Amino acid sequence: MFDLLIRNANLPDGREEIDIAITAGKIAALQPRIDAEAREEIDATGRLVSPPFVDPHFHLDATLSLGLPRMNRSGTLLEGIALWGELRPMLTREALVERALRYCDLAVSQGLLAIRTHVDTSDPRLVTVEAMLEVRERVAPYLDLQLVAFPQDGYFRSRGGEDALKRALDMGIDVVGGIPHFERTMQDGAASVEALCRLAAERGLPVDMHCDETDDPLSRHIETLAAQTMRFGLQGRVAGSHLTSMHSMDNYYVSKLIPLIAEAGIHAIANPLINIMLQGRHDAYPKRRGLTRLPELMSAGVNVALGHDCVMDPWYSMGSGDMLEVGHMAIHVAQMASIDDKHRIFEAITVNSARALGIEGYGLEKGCNGDLVVLQARDPIEALRLKAHRLAVVRRGRIIARSAPRTTQLMLDGRPGTVDAAAYAPAIGSERL
Ligand SMILES: [Zn+2]
Repeated sequence: MFDLLIRNANLPDGREEIDIAITAGKIAALQPRIDAEAREEIDATGRLVSPPFVDPHFHLDATLSLGLPRMNRSGTLLEGIALWGELRPMLTREALVERALRYCDLAVSQGLLAIRTHVDTSDPRLVTVEAMLEVRERVAPYLDLQLVAFPQDGYFRSRGGEDALKRALDMGIDVVGGIPHFERTMQDGAASVEALCRLAAERGLPVDMHCDETDDPLSRHIETLAAQTMRFGLQGRVAGSHLTSMHSMDNYYVSKLIPLIAEAGIHAIANPLINIMLQGRHDAYPKRRGLTRLPELMSAGVNVALGHDCVMDPWYSMGSGDMLEVGHMAIHVAQMASIDDKHRIFEAITVNSARALGIEGYGLEKGCNGDLVVLQARDPIEALRLKAHRLAVVRRGRIIARSAPRTTQLMLDGRPGTVDAAAYAPAIGSERL
């Protein structure tokens, strides 16, 4: 007798008519036709069952603060940082916790069960750190939250920045952050990368830096990050977030840089919604897209993950906690339209993100955590195309979110009575070429 049985599932790798049995929080069996009973059953009826979505880059301390204390008029990254600076002294632990918990409710309803969030350490009160530590504990039964100590105003640039970041780590933050392109000079930026990698090595922690979030092709902190990663033996534990300057870099230089990133085992985390919104702001027409070079990084063997970054905060007024929307934007901005490309994008919001965060027991295999999402779509491509409706979200074998299929009644003479947008996939399906 299993706790939960999912019947007739399509898996992201193309397997069809698979049953998944979960017991004691783990996947106990995964094969065609399991002859057994369970306390609860879901018939997936040939729809896609995916491991949960993972957001490797978010700002949970800023989310849902849109309009406080005012709107970002220019829409730029720099006004966003200034606006956040205005709001920061007004932040209270209670309000931060309440907004973050509310966002996590939305995330769970979207099948998003792991988030790495950057926590601003620039305010010496560290109220953001206290609040996010509380949230990490409160959501732990249903959502894995990883916290990055993020010196938003600069590790060296802001007074007390070094001390505050170290105190945040002492309080229990999981990952060392950074923002080298925001330090006063290129040299200070490079020095901050060196100092923060040293700190991570000393404390045995991973690193995830906002790195080169600029259109300046000479912003090359990712090169330093790769070199320091190897120097301190941090391979596989370091992520470079954004890397937007790479969009504008000289092609010859990039031909040297990407293999260096691969050699250092750095995870590349792009944030397509925010990058397309914030980059290229100083351009007249033509305007650069600003997204880093996703297909080239992937082809070089770099683990590429995609993050949501912001939802309704000083930097971004849109967003819905939907990682399929993030992937959908990446397909367009990076022009990754082939069948194979779209599968790679689906991996970037699931398995690659889980790998970047080092989540254990992730995936749909026997012995993995009993975590999954049932989508109103037949395969990953259809899921991305539709930003498919989530029919059920399962955490450790327990259904924690559920909704009815989305269909529309049609009142047209001689036409069908209902429309199910998930029934329109082409006959060629999504077989990988
Ligand atoms: Zn960010």
